[in-house]
Formats: sequence, C-alpha cells, structure tokens
Amino acid sequence: MKKHNFYAGPSIMSQYTIDHTIDAIRDFAGTGLSVLEISHRSKEFQAVMDEAQALFKELLDIPEGYEVLFLGGGASLQFCMVPYNLLKTKAGYVDSGTWAHKAIKEAKLFGDVEIVASSEDDKYVYYPKLDNVPTDLDYLHITTNNTIYGTELREDPDVPVRMVADMSSDIFSRPVDVSKYDLIYGGAQKNLAPAGVTFVIVKTDVLGQAPRAIPTMLNYETHVKKGSMFNTPPVLPIYSALQTLKWYKELGGVKKLQEIDEEKARVLYDAIDESKMFVGTVKPESRSIMNVCFVMKPEYAGLEKDFLDFAATKGIVGIKGHRSVGGFRASLYNALPLDSVKVLTQAMKEFENKH
Ligand SMILES: *Cc1c(COP(=O)(O)O)cnc(C)c1O
Repeated sequence: MKKHNFYAGPSIMSQYTIDHTIDAIRDFAGTGLSVLEISHRSKEFQAVMDEAQALFKELLDIPEGYEVLFLGGGASLQFCMVPYNLLKTKAGYVDSGTWAHKAIKEAKLFGDVEIVASSEDDKYVYYPKLDNVPTDLDYLHITTNNTIYGTELREDPDVPVRMVADMSSDIFSRPVDVSKYDLIYGGAQKNLAPAGVTFVIVKTDVLGQAPRAIPTMLNYETHVKKGSMFNTPPVLPIYSALQTLKWYKELGGVKKLQEIDEEKARVLYDAIDESKMFVGTVKPESRSIMNVCFVMKPEYAGLEKDFLDFAATKGIVGIKGHRSVGGFRASLYNALPLDSVKVLTQAMKEFENKH
C-alpha cells in the first residue's frame, strides 16, 4: 500500500511523474531505448530539455532576459556558484537557519558578507524582517523556505537591491515575481523531481562581471551558452521534472497549486492549534505551508516515539523532526494529497484521546 509520505526531501513524487517515468524507462518516446540509456544529444532528449525549460518559464511567468538551467551538484553547489559568479565586493545574506548558514559560509570565500537580518536570537522560529537592507550590496541572498525550522517568506520582498533566492523547498508553491531576482535556485528533490538535478533561473545580463577567473563547470555562462548541455546533464531527473511540470500545468498552474497547498497547511495547523497535546514551534506569521514543525507539550514528554509508532500503523512516514530540532515535521509538498494530511490529523486526534 502507498504510504502517506511526509519526508522532507527526497520526498513524495506525484503518481503522474512516477508512472510516466516508468513508461520512459521501458521505452522512451518510441525510440526502442530506455530513457536510462538514451544519448543526451539525441533529438528526443533535446526535445525533453527544451520543453522542460519552456514549461518552467511558462508556469513561473519568467520574463525575457532569464534562462532556466538544469545542473548537477545540488542546491549546496549553488551556495558556492552564486558568490563565485555574482559577488564583486559585498553581498547581504539573511540568516534564517541551517541552509542559510551553509550559503553564508561559502560566500565568505569570495568577498564581504553582511548579515542583513537574522532570527538566531529566537532559534529561527520566525522569518527575520527585511527593513534595513543596505543599498551597496551586489545582491541580497534569501532562503524563502526554511525546510528544517518550518519558516517561510511567502512573498517577494521589496528591498533596494536585487535578490538571489534558495527556493529549494517552496518553488511552485506560489507565483513568484522573478523580475525582483538576479537568480533563483534549488535542488529538485522537494517539489520537482527525484534527486540529482538542480534548477537555476538566472538573469543573463548579470553574468560575466565577477572580478575573478571562474572554472568552466562553475561558470553559469558555460551552461547558458550550451543550454545546460555543456556536459552530460542528469537525464533521468530532467525527464521526471518535465513530467511534474506537465502535471502542474494540467492541475491549473502555480496559482492553483498555491490554493491547494494553503488548504493542506490550514488543515494541519488548525489541528495543531486545537490540540491539547501538540503545539506548533513557529510564530504564526512565519509558518511555512511546505514544512510544518510541531512538538509535544512538556506534560506529554516521552510519548514522541509512541506517536511515531502509532502514526506508522496508519501508513504515515517521515514526520520525525530534523535531528537538529527534534519533535515532528510534516512536509506537505505539492504531490502530497489532502487525504494524507487528513489521515495525519485524524491520527493526532486519536492518539491524543488515548492519552
Ligand atoms: C534541501 C535543501 C538544500 C540542499 O539541497 P541539496 O540538493 O541536497 O544540496 C538547500 N536549501 C534548502 C532550502 C533545502 O531545503
């Protein structure tokens, strides 16, 4: 039986994506070859790449002047590629938790880094305010959704400089005003595809200005010029990404996904707020609709493991909180059905009634 998959990443994929990927593993586009063995230079795969880039642009309404790249290395390689390519003298970073830290660490290798805002003072349970952004930054780096702490910035803020955003875990959960960004990136394994491909949306006219030599593979210009085909791209994850994008379009696009996601999050947060046993860890105004973090109230301490076991009997997997924060985390990515959320809230109620 299919489990209710609340894992934070890699995470649930739509049945549409899984089924179409299986079909192409058997026979890719009538070629008599599996997508696992097809040349990335074949015209059939080139068509997949072209369509994935075009659909990505269409769904996010990406303006002229931007390119969509599909690269290897994960979001973690982008922590380094971004400053390598874009940091001239000083960049601003928002310290909103673990992933932001990792991005900050890499940026410091390439120039001055100013921490423009931070929520470290309260263990990252809110999204820091962006009221005092200096104007002399090459860019401001934000992490729109903090997968580990469960905070999210659900709008594109107005700041006096262009932004770079890690949208690994909330891409395609709301419309984005891409024109406010120089670059947006993310690992695909949350809302797009199996692990192995990283998406990058880059404004091409900001490239080529870094005061340093950049190794070929780490230079965005290489990949822009070659349409993500400078070297062998992650063929299978890109194929799967295209299937997810097609599914998103069939569902009605990003606005529709936003509605569905907000409804799922509302159902779970309501259950947490009504519960005598569970309590949310994030300030209400910063609550993520993708990763919902909660704990047991102190008087129930010691029952965490029992609850995980109980949930498992209902087919619920992946709700253990990140090892650095503990408690519970339910990830409600686009492919997770509302029914799975209802199974979880029902399990929470049943468990609470038993104790
Ligand atoms: C998962 C995640 C990452 C790391 O992605 P990798 O592809 O594993 O490098 C970075 N940032 C955020 C916000 C994430 O959720």
